[in-house]
Amino acid sequence: MGFPTRERALRNRSEGRADVHIHTRYSDGRASVREVLDRAFTDPRLDVIAITDHNTIEGALEAARLAPEYPLEVVVGEEITSLEGHILGLFLKEAVRPGLSAGETIAAVHAQGGLAIAAHPFAPRHDHVRGVGRVPMGLGRALRQVPFDGVEVVNSFPLFAPANWLARRAQRASGVAATGGSDAHVVEAVGKGYTCFPGRTAADLALAIRQRRTAAGGSFYGPRLVLAYAMFVADVYRGRTAG
Ligand SMILES: [Zn+2]
Ligand SMILES: [Zn+2]
Repeated sequence: MGFPTRERALRNRSEGRADVHIHTRYSDGRASVREVLDRAFTDPRLDVIAITDHNTIEGALEAARLAPEYPLEVVVGEEITSLEGHILGLFLKEAVRPGLSAGETIAAVHAQGGLAIAAHPFAPRHDHVRGVGRVPMGLGRALRQVPFDGVEVVNSFPLFAPANWLARRAQRASGVAATGGSDAHVVEAVGKGYTCFPGRTAADLALAIRQRRTAAGGSFYGPRLVLAYAMFVADVYRGRTAG
């Protein structure tokens, strides 16, 4: 419950592990695509990652081009700013534009065969990134009205613990898939939140979300990661991080 969610240590390596919420320099993340890939297959040994920059798939496309060099698979994703809140579009072929309603955003994702996940639906409004990262309120309410494929119940961004707890409750009530992601903005955070699924591949992950056979988990931040995030937040508030 809450964050950091203690890893369900019983997870066995017959199932895959995916971090489906990662930022790069293509939006407000600090890491390059290459740095994320280098990290993702070493420590925490992820099988699948989704790059989900704010309102762009450019970083995800670059990661997908580089992926054959790595023992993991890349899902092209985007964290889309809808009118009601942030929505993760996964398995995208083209970017979905921000500023649509949640229902319209989901329809645009589904129209290209993608999956739509409600990202941190109960997170307090945060403006850690001026503009692109601004979180409108209301996605929690939208969960009951629009056809999400999943709800992010573990988001390892610091301070989202109560929001994770509420998201878990809403996910159970709705019956859609549970996902976990790091929402990494610094490379050290990659894999701190994750989605477990039967199989190992990106196709297995998609099937598991559709069949609601995923589980979400996360692990605690160590002191180095807390420090890295503190520096990230401080820089953003000083206006140094490019939007
Ligand atoms: Zn977000
Ligand atoms: Zn995010």
